[in-house]
Amino acid sequence: MSSRGNLFIVSAPSGAGKSSLIAALLADQPADMQVSVSHTTRQPRPGEVHGQHYHFVSVDEFKQLIAEQAFYEWAEVFGNYYGTSRRVIEQTLAQGIDVFLDIDWQGAQQIKQQMPEAIGVFILPPSRDELQRRLTGRGQDSEEVIASRMAKAVSEMSHYFEYDFVIVNDDFETALTDLRAIIRSQRLTQASQTITHSDMLKGLLAE
Ligand code: 5GP
Repeated sequence: MSSRGNLFIVSAPSGAGKSSLIAALLADQPADMQVSVSHTTRQPRPGEVHGQHYHFVSVDEFKQLIAEQAFYEWAEVFGNYYGTSRRVIEQTLAQGIDVFLDIDWQGAQQIKQQMPEAIGVFILPPSRDELQRRLTGRGQDSEEVIASRMAKAVSEMSHYFEYDFVIVNDDFETALTDLRAIIRSQRLTQASQTITHSDMLKGLLAE
């Protein structure tokens, strides 16, 4: 395969707007981008569709998939297992399609070890107060639940420096423009352009 897509890892604490940014990026279903659908053992939330948001599986099924080495990475996140399918990623990248992984820092580390050229993007909220507002604004949760979400968010954010790019999601449209700029610049690197324009380059450089 001469054409190979880029692998983007996108991580963020809950409340930073990661899912909305990825959804907006893929809203008009661009042919050259795809988000990876993970496997998880957590229960579906209202409105979540099997095969679309996640592949929802039992703990036994998940462990079987680990044994079969079906995952590119997997991790336990807040008491549930999550994993990225190896086959789907490899097949999609081989078709020259960019793949987005919406995964946590543990998964990001595993991906970077296996594929150092994967591009890590971390999304931060603009302030602690704003993060608290976003985590509180989601429903009628108790103070304890919100405090626990905040602690998890701070723990996830402490890994931001392990990523190649950082986006501060204060204004959504600006953050989306930033994400698009990262993708575009990645496609313009010499390594990417050499693959994308291999025929053109052959013609240009012919003696
Ligand atoms: P949620 O249960 O809210 O959808 O996701 C919880 C966390 O698990 C989020 O930080 C999300 O990015 C992460 N996550 C989702 N899928 C995967 C995966 O396949 N691998 C890893 N390592 N983390 C994942």
